[in-house]
Parts: sequence; C-alpha cells; structure tokens
Amino acid sequence: MLDLDVRTLFIISISVTLVLGFLLLFAWYQNREIRALGWWSVSHFVTCAGAALLSVRGYVPDVLSTDIANMLILVACGIGWGGARLFDDRSVPMSGVLAGPILWLFVSQLPVLNDSVNARIMFSSAIISVYTIGTGCEIWRGRLIEPLMSRWPLSVTLFVHGLVYALRIWLVFAFPVASGATFYAVAWFSIIGLESLLFLIVASFMVLAMAKERSELVHKTNAMLDPLTNIPNRRAFLDAAMRRMRQRSRNPEPVTAMLFDLDHFKSVNDRFGHSIGDEVLRIFTAKAAAEFRSTDIMGRLGGEEFGALLFGAGEGTAIGTAERIRRALMVATAEIDGKHVDATVSVGVAVLARDADEDVASLFERADHALYAAKKRGRNRVEVAGRQSAAGAERDAGEARPELATVSPIRAASPTLVPQSPSFDDDIAWAEAEPLRAARK
Ligand code: GH3
Ligand code: MG
Ligand code: MG
Repeated sequence: MLDLDVRTLFIISISVTLVLGFLLLFAWYQNREIRALGWWSVSHFVTCAGAALLSVRGYVPDVLSTDIANMLILVACGIGWGGARLFDDRSVPMSGVLAGPILWLFVSQLPVLNDSVNARIMFSSAIISVYTIGTGCEIWRGRLIEPLMSRWPLSVTLFVHGLVYALRIWLVFAFPVASGATFYAVAWFSIIGLESLLFLIVASFMVLAMAKERSELVHKTNAMLDPLTNIPNRRAFLDAAMRRMRQRSRNPEPVTAMLFDLDHFKSVNDRFGHSIGDEVLRIFTAKAAAEFRSTDIMGRLGGEEFGALLFGAGEGTAIGTAERIRRALMVATAEIDGKHVDATVSVGVAVLARDADEDVASLFERADHALYAAKKRGRNRVEVAGRQSAAGAERDAGEARPELATVSPIRAASPTLVPQSPSFDDDIAWAEAEPLRAARK
C-alpha cells in the first residue's frame, strides 16, 4: 500500500481546501452575478471545518469528531450541489441541500451504525457519492442551454469522484476497519485521501475556468446582440450569413435574402413618440422571428432595417414568409397602448437557386434593389428581384435595376400615415444599403 502518512495528508488537504475556498471567494467577489462561486466557496470552508473535526478524533468528544464532523462534510456536499443548480439559474431546494446531512444525523444514531465504524463509512460514502454524482449531472444538464467547454471536464471529475466514493463502500467490505482503530491506521485511507485532495484541486480549477468562460461568453454575446430587439446586430448577422454561405458551398440548397425597412418610421416616432417606435421595432422582430425557421438567420442591420437569410427556401416559400410578416406587423400594430399606430414594412427579396453561386454582399444588394422598388411603388409591399443564374449579372449592368416581380398589391395606407416623404430618393435608399456594401471585402 502507498506509504503516505494519512495525518500529514489530512493537514495538507485542510490547508489546500482553505486556500481554494478563499480563491473561490475572491472569484465570487469579482463576479458577484455568479452566485454559485460564493456557494462553492462556503462549501470549501464547511469541508475544512468538518475535516478539521475529523482529524482531532480522540482529542474532542466523539459527538464532535464523528457525528458533527460527518454532518458538516455532508452539508458541504449539499451546498456544492446547490451551487451547481444555482450556476444554471435553477432553484435550490433547501430540502435537497440538507436531506443528506439530516438523514445522516438520524440514521447514524441507530445502533447498526452507532456500533460499527464500517457501517458509518459505508453510509456517509453513499451520501457523498449521490451528492457528487448529482452535482455532476447538474453541471452536465446545463450544457443544453449554455454549452461551456469546461462543463465536460468538471462533470467527468465529479462523476469519477462520485464513483471513487461508491468504491469506498466496497473497500469497507473488502478491507474492514478494525473496531476501535482510528482512520490513521487504515491503509486505503491514504489513497482515498489523496484522490479527494486531487479532486478538490481539479474541481476548483474547473469551476473557476467555467465561471471565466461564462463571463467571456456573456461579453461576446452582448457585443453581438442588439440590445433593443435581442437579435444579432449587423456585424453578427453578416458574420453568420457569410459563414452559412460558405457551408452552403459544400451542401447546395436554395437561399433567400430578405431586407425589411419599416415605412415612414420617422413619422411613427414623430407622431407617437420614441418609446412607441421602439415597441414597433420589438413587435416587428417578434413577428418576423415567429415566421422564420430555426435554420434561418435574422439580424438588425441598423435603425429600422432588418435582414434575413433563409436556407432551403425557394421563391414561393420566401414570398409567403415575407407576406405573412408584412401582414402580421399591420395587425399587431393596429393598436398599441390605445393608439392606432398602423406600422407597415417594405420587403426586398432576392432568391439564389440551389446550384447558383453568389456572395452575400451581392445577394443582399439584389434584395436592396427590390426593397428600393417596394418603396418606390408605394411601400407596405414585397418585391422580388428577378432570379439570377450567374452571379453579378445585374451588378455588371451598372445602374440598371434588376427585374422585379410585384407580389403584394399596393395596400391603401392607414389614413393617419403621412404621404411619402419627398426626401426619399436614390441617395437615401443607397445610403441605407451602405452597411451591406461595406460587408463586401
Ligand atoms: P422610409 O419609408 O422611406 O423608410 O421612411 P423612414 O422614415 O422609415 O426612413 P428614414 O431613414 O428617414 O427614418 C428612419 C427613422 O428610424 C429615423 C430614426 O429616428 C428611426 N429610428 C432608427 N433607429 C431607431 C430606434 O432604435 N428606435 C426608434 N424609436 N426609432 C429609430
Ligand atoms: Mg431605413
Ligand atoms: Mg424606413
């Protein structure tokens, strides 16, 4: 058996756990929104207290060094499990945190446990094993909503540690502790003790890595999302569009680009106020998102302009989708806070056939031409740029607009809608398309 002094190992373990507890406390202080760090820190301190009491067996009353010490270690396991739930914003039932220690307090008083150190070790090992594997499951579950890389090693570490404690039950059978012996005399305790020390170090580092990964992901996501509508901003949308188009070159499928521009939006703000204008933008986003499939991407290109890229959607499907969004916006904004806002949107659609090739900027430029035509022809309508088999045919035609197919008839605008802005001209339309042109390298 490994020649390790269990007493020394105990002192090292307690000191290391204390230091790790302070490290976690410091990490929590820096990231207060990750409350789990605070819980895990407390869990370390409670483990320290429990282990310290265990180590002074023989010098203090048994009730302290056995019952209370084990209970504290089980409380620490419960807090660790609660921290894992808290990390993923799940509720932390106190009954779950305290079930193990309370069970221990009662069951350990039964003669079968009270009289046998082996039965006590088996029982506490079983509870620790359940808590540790349970904590691993909580961390593992969270990957579905937040796929952090460090969840993997942390879950594996917890599962392995949980299994080692399950193995301890078997060890008690195979190598029972002699009655009256202190655990300093039990040879396999040194191996289990070493494993526990390594587990605490690895798990603490993984927890810190996971918290750091979350902070970075939050910052990255915030930088990519439009705060008003909570959908990708222009940069994130165009990045995703270019990435998806590159993937499409391996898996050909039809693609449709859509550009949406809310009509006379300046006037909506002027008449109803900026907050109603914001609400219209949110309503539009929700209505559009409800029509898109999970494989489609959508983003806010700026102001009251939105873009979408639909994969696997041919012309018919795309026109149907754009029409439903257009109508849904009118219905949803017919009345907001008792005001007849009647917001409308113009849509430019450009379809790329399955076997055709075109870059993102050129595809959106065609959609922009169609949007221009929708504005020119009265707004609140969907226009489709003529299909293009070879990339850039229209672009090469200089100022010539692509062939356009009118889809929605010009609907009589709401009576409260101001007439078409006299300032709307080619310059404005092209200025609006600037973000997309800038995307073309
Ligand atoms: P058109 O039908 O020709 O597109 O006319 P328009 O008034 O929509 O176009 P214009 O580009 O003149 O005005 C866009 C307006 O959108 C101006 C700006 O105040 C408003 N806007 C841009 N971003 C926001 C926003 O985040 N919230 C609100 N409430 N308004 C915004
Ligand atoms: Mg605009
Ligand atoms: Mg507009």
